[in-house]
Amino acid sequence: MFNKFQIIKKFYIFFFIFTLLIQIIISLCKTTYSNTFSNDFIYPSDITYTSSEFGYRILYGKSNFHTGTDFPVPQGSNVYATENGTVKSCGFIQGYGICITILHPNNYISLYAHLDENVKSFVYIGKEVLKGDVIANVGPKYLSNGVLNGNTTGPHLHFTIYNEKGKLINPLSLNLKKKS
Ligand SMILES: [Zn+2]
Repeated sequence: MFNKFQIIKKFYIFFFIFTLLIQIIISLCKTTYSNTFSNDFIYPSDITYTSSEFGYRILYGKSNFHTGTDFPVPQGSNVYATENGTVKSCGFIQGYGICITILHPNNYISLYAHLDENVKSFVYIGKEVLKGDVIANVGPKYLSNGVLNGNTTGPHLHFTIYNEKGKLINPLSLNLKKKS
């Protein structure tokens, strides 16, 4: 009888530990899942058509390599994080004007250019952003100090993607989805 009781006791202890482990594994899986990079990039603006595409183009009569895709959104429009990530830089870059870069978990980097000077009210370096978060507004052609807001002929959003090797790729090759 004693042995039987011990076996049952052992069985219950084993069962208890087993269910506990299963619960821990499930909760760990859930956390991992919610942190999983979906690799599902969205358009950085409400406009999904482009005014200038990635690649070689003629600019001021010369062949010029366009490092990204332009979206013809008016000044003040929202700019969205294309995927979850961490803000890597935020400030003025020659050619891009006021600009943000975001590092994504797959080591891709997205860049958003010709932004408004109020960018610091949305993001800071090191900030974790989620896909679809408003990270900036589209800026004016000229900044408050009279400087041209990058190589721009007027307000629009320039969007660049670097892959994990730091190579420029066509942002539209990511099969961007519209922000839901
Ligand atoms: Zn551009």
